[in-house]
Amino acid sequence: MTDLAHHIAHAPLVDTHEHLHREQVWTTAGPDILQDLFGNYVTGDLVSAGAAPDAVERLTAEAPDRDIAALFAPVQEAWQRVRFTGYGRATAEVARRFYGVEELTVDTLAAAAEHGRSLQRPGERLRLLRDEARLDHTQTDDSRWPCEPDEADQSFFLYDLSWFSLSRGDVEPAALHAATGVEVTGLDSLDEAMAALFAAEGGRAVAVKTQHAYARTLRWEERSRSEASAALRALLHKGAEGVDYATSLCLGDWCLARGVEHAIEHQLPFKIHTGYYAGNDRMPLDLIRPSNLCGLLERYLDARFVLMHIAYPYQAELLSLAKHYRNVWVDLCWAWSIDPRSSGEWLRRWIHTAPVNKLFAFGGDTRWPTSAFAYALQAREGIAAALDAEVAVGDISEAEAMEVATRIMHANQYECFDIAGTRAAIAQSAA
Ligand SMILES: [Zn+2]
Repeated sequence: MTDLAHHIAHAPLVDTHEHLHREQVWTTAGPDILQDLFGNYVTGDLVSAGAAPDAVERLTAEAPDRDIAALFAPVQEAWQRVRFTGYGRATAEVARRFYGVEELTVDTLAAAAEHGRSLQRPGERLRLLRDEARLDHTQTDDSRWPCEPDEADQSFFLYDLSWFSLSRGDVEPAALHAATGVEVTGLDSLDEAMAALFAAEGGRAVAVKTQHAYARTLRWEERSRSEASAALRALLHKGAEGVDYATSLCLGDWCLARGVEHAIEHQLPFKIHTGYYAGNDRMPLDLIRPSNLCGLLERYLDARFVLMHIAYPYQAELLSLAKHYRNVWVDLCWAWSIDPRSSGEWLRRWIHTAPVNKLFAFGGDTRWPTSAFAYALQAREGIAAALDAEVAVGDISEAEAMEVATRIMHANQYECFDIAGTRAAIAQSAA
């Protein structure tokens, strides 16, 4: 092993994006072997490869007395077709590492069905991620406003404040009232409720996160108070389901802008999903291009925008934004498993194009710690291969490659996120 490979295999890796289940779900309702292997993005590849969508859904669905062999049989052929994708490789790694299964078949999976249960004990989720995957800490988006201290380790498992529903214009008066005590009857009280969310959670949240690209265009426009007020009146009258797309968009733009302003005030990075969709058969590429965000980026130069998933397949476009805008950071989260080879090549382009302090190397973007482990390993391998290639062609020295690795795996995140401040606020709220 070269010094560089050793460095990358052992350096602490900050995990800036997960959807991890809490400890209690892992220990009391943890996955069986199929739910573990396929409870991640690989199901999308299986459907694209020709597996029946309902058979794929059954792989991870809750049901009593699940028959592992019978559930895997209908997708076995499709599995053979996706073994080489990034998702497939990660699933194979989980099978090998945690179940001792080298080749996924009806028989091997049925025989190993209970092997993973020993991991589903208190503390194992933390040990797996911290000691085996060597993650420095995780940042989880659980799609909620409250960022309660994690019962397993409050300084390892950090949480994002979700701004998804508000950014898509889905203002829920009952939920806002429950969370803040504010009765939303118009724009003034909506503003008050959003301020209250930040007052309550801004300290212990590590960042703000929105994936409104799944529900609307990323294109943002400044909205006037009167426009937003009319949109909110319509929504309060007809409900979120009853209003048209233009009304939701207007309200979403309004709430997104207020969220960014509060994030600036609370010194929280603002994470935005850009690019590729999970799932199948719906991906309006025009809506998810990162260049749609230019208006927002220009309006809020004091914000720290973290544009996620390298905006795949618009990674070249995103690179130009990162090079140009002072307020853009970029996260390789999920990218290593979507398209490992392009991610490595893109990292090499980044090094010679954009400042090295603006890139984060990893987020697993998954729910089970076993999947996060496999995705972290995949990221380390990708980073090592890319930087090794840079050294091999003589573009950077091995010492410089190690410096780049340290930055993107660990140091950049500590510069951008106030990790110490977040941990202190969580400790205070837990006390
Ligand atoms: Zn995600």
